[in-house]
Amino acid sequence: MAYLSLKNINKIYPNGFHAVHNFNLEIEKGEFVVFVGPSGCGKSTTLRMIAGLEDISSGEFLINGQRANEKGPREREVAMVFQSYALYPQMTVYDNIAFGLTLQGVDEDVIEERVKNTAKILGLTDYLDRLPRALSGGQRQRVAIGRAIIRKVGVFLMDEPLSNLDAKQRVTMRYEIAQIHRSTGATTIYVTHDQTEAMTLADRIVVMKDGYVQQIGTPYELYFKPANVFVAGFIGEPPTNFIKGTVKNGSLAFGDVTLDLKKVYSGIGAYEGKEMVLGFRPEAIRLTDPQNAYEIISRVELTEMLGDNTNVYITKGDHQAILKVDSHDTPEMDTDLTFYIPYESVYLFDGQTEKAIELR
Ligand code: ATP
Repeated sequence: MAYLSLKNINKIYPNGFHAVHNFNLEIEKGEFVVFVGPSGCGKSTTLRMIAGLEDISSGEFLINGQRANEKGPREREVAMVFQSYALYPQMTVYDNIAFGLTLQGVDEDVIEERVKNTAKILGLTDYLDRLPRALSGGQRQRVAIGRAIIRKVGVFLMDEPLSNLDAKQRVTMRYEIAQIHRSTGATTIYVTHDQTEAMTLADRIVVMKDGYVQQIGTPYELYFKPANVFVAGFIGEPPTNFIKGTVKNGSLAFGDVTLDLKKVYSGIGAYEGKEMVLGFRPEAIRLTDPQNAYEIISRVELTEMLGDNTNVYITKGDHQAILKVDSHDTPEMDTDLTFYIPYESVYLFDGQTEKAIELR
């Protein structure tokens, strides 16, 4: 039996807006699950329904097999970390971390021991006497996490906890959150719009769009087997390149290029005359012929040298794409660049439904 079960969960707000549609998910104890998707896709709403901060319009939420829809946030044994930290400004770090236990009337000695342990895990030992305003953003977020983990509840819910931090702090805190999860083993549900955070932290990712779940899987599954065009475009940075067209003689043609789709999909005959989308990742291309690959001659419009690699913006007829190459192979702008897409790196999607076609 799963620890947490969401069965056909829907959220319809009082104004009639249907924010979450038939959300189904089973979460095992100790799992780190990330809800990811663009702004407004319903990830925070789903998290808030799990927290008990938002009513569930229909469907069932179970904890250890017991219906929990009607339970309040406290009874659900969940702790939530918000993007805004929500610390008490007039209280020291110690008192902020201790707050939940103090409210529960826990013994002072026990509180002291637990605050000290928590501060140690979070590297806050030297800051316990400070007020939040005398801390950096990353330190404040650690206090907010400390306040949640000290309660030793079953589930941590985190809503964009890193979004107020700068890029460098985000990377550090991401590592720390992963370490905290390893050391506490606590079931965690984490909401973000950032696919890198999702990929690096999650055991499993739930990709959402417009209130619908698009795919649930491990980071590996989402990257290598995206269920549809949206997931292929959302996971990966820079995003997957797409070429859309009508299949003629088993091929997709654009400009002077003809991509023979029989090379990657033996069932292409069924798509004759229909729309299809071909996807390839910027990092999947090769600059020398690897054999068994499509060859494309393109025009280099712009290059971005990032150190370990270069993003190359190319055009071919009306199509644009981004290629990722080793920075030592950075091409000149306004020149022609020949590149190869290995057949094994190609994704195909139905042009109507945008769903992935099983190729391999
Ligand atoms: P973000 O990253 O911007 O927070 P999100 O994926 O977390 O996005 P939600 O906050 O879950 O999105 O909101 C989902 C949809 O529900 C949005 O279109 C939002 O406008 C709508 N919504 C949220 N709260 C309410 C409300 N109280 N009444 C009506 N609609 C709401």
